[in-house]
Amino acid sequence: MSVFKVGNATITRIEETYLPVYPPADIFPDLTKALLSEHVHWLAPNHYDPNSNKLLLSVHSWLLQLDGRKILIDGCCGNQKSRPQRPHWHMLNTPWLDRLAAAGARPDEIDLVMCTHLHHDHVGWNTQLKDGKWVPTFPNARYVFSKLDFDYFRKLDSDPATAPTEFGSFRECVVPVVEAGRADLVTGPHVLNEFIEILPAGGHSPGHFYFRLKVGGDRAMITGDVFHHLLQVLYPDWNFPKNSDPQEARVSRRRMFDEAAASGALVFPGHVGAPFAGQIEKTGSSYKPRF
Ligand SMILES: [Zn+2]
Repeated sequence: MSVFKVGNATITRIEETYLPVYPPADIFPDLTKALLSEHVHWLAPNHYDPNSNKLLLSVHSWLLQLDGRKILIDGCCGNQKSRPQRPHWHMLNTPWLDRLAAAGARPDEIDLVMCTHLHHDHVGWNTQLKDGKWVPTFPNARYVFSKLDFDYFRKLDSDPATAPTEFGSFRECVVPVVEAGRADLVTGPHVLNEFIEILPAGGHSPGHFYFRLKVGGDRAMITGDVFHHLLQVLYPDWNFPKNSDPQEARVSRRRMFDEAAASGALVFPGHVGAPFAGQIEKTGSSYKPRF
């Protein structure tokens, strides 16, 4: 289990899957064979698997424990969700809840669930199947969702041409939480409490957030899918596929990297491989990962 300290806060990675998934050329068209071999010495084995020639992608949540509060950030894909279009995450049956318990939180102890955005791999555990119905997994939690994302995906989900959006995850993992009266739809920037700020970083989805944590003099940034892979730190203009606005995604990424480099914050991305969190250094017009 990967556990990090930020001041007196504890941030624990709750793994769902960590697999070689995508051939590099499918994701980054500018990643030539020559360039890949230049970087392979540090990419393998945690970020690139030479045997299968695939980039590794972790799917995990972050559990933030601070002053007796237990906050879950991003909800992975979830169990029993039918995603035939995404075979690595189709009908999962992982011990994710056991891992959450081992990290120190039962579902009824979670106070707050915060989703960086509303893609299917960030909302899955929001709900569980009970007696044939999707119901909130965390019975005592408020859920923070991006209002911009909610409106965007609600529109797609009500249009027969695009429904069900996000492989059905919007109606399975987001709508039941809203209907249960447990969701707070937020527009950033927003000061959530004395420790956490919600900042907009659109482009991957329209209302994508990152969360800024300040505990005493220590800082962290929980960044979701502002970047997916450490290669994007070196090449900040490279997008991972599937963006609502590719150019906005690049602008958000550089702005987030600039803040991380200037503040020395520990950065917690949504899909980066081991050691899963680290710092970002500015180098001229680019950046370097210190993970
Ligand atoms: Zn994602």
